[in-house]
Amino acid sequence: MVARLRQQGIADDAVLRAMGQVPRHRFVDEGLASRVYEDTALPIGHQQTLSQPYVVARSLSLARSHCRADGDRSRALEIGTGCGYQAAVMAGLFSSVVSIERIEGLHRDARRNLAALALSNLHLILGDGLDGCPEMAPFDAMVLAAGLADTPLELLRQLQVGGVMVGPLGWPDQRLVVVRRCQDDGNAEPTFERFEFDAVQFVPILRGIQR
Ligand code: SAH
Repeated sequence: MVARLRQQGIADDAVLRAMGQVPRHRFVDEGLASRVYEDTALPIGHQQTLSQPYVVARSLSLARSHCRADGDRSRALEIGTGCGYQAAVMAGLFSSVVSIERIEGLHRDARRNLAALALSNLHLILGDGLDGCPEMAPFDAMVLAAGLADTPLELLRQLQVGGVMVGPLGWPDQRLVVVRRCQDDGNAEPTFERFEFDAVQFVPILRGIQR
């Protein structure tokens, strides 16, 4: 899988290493395990999918290459834990990671899938990710694992200066977009710059918790 990602243009060695270290087959049903290293999205129940490896690698590479936040401890937020796979990869790339899931059943599955990996820097939360996590903010990186029609301005306030949000934005045409928080000029409102990349198709972000 890692060799294929490299061929597909993923050049960030830290991302490739982190993906090589997470056993992806542990995050899906046994019946799907034989397909889990193919470049394909897979069902994880509750009408949700585990993103294809390329999209995970691309999102995390874009986050890392665009982030200008300084400081030696990096904090990341994932919205949409799903089965927990991408959260585990992120835990290998950032000093601490918070991942929020709105569907209780998936939150529980992710906890179970991740237990054996014992990642002490990964915190899973059941909640609405669009509220972010003010207690852990500001973040160097936010990764959306589900799509939004509009840029989530309230959430972006939880970014560090120079920090980035990566996610599928736009409707009906969705693109992987990077939004970066610009240097503050005094006490003005925060400003952001935006970069657009690959056309993608993600499940939508929904509001509220589903029990
Ligand atoms: N990163 C996941 C991909 C999961 S698919 C993985 O590695 O498996 C996207 C996930 O986003 C779904 O589980 C969905 O329930 C979740 N989601 C959608 N809207 C959300 C919201 N507002 N807050 C938190 N999670 C959300």
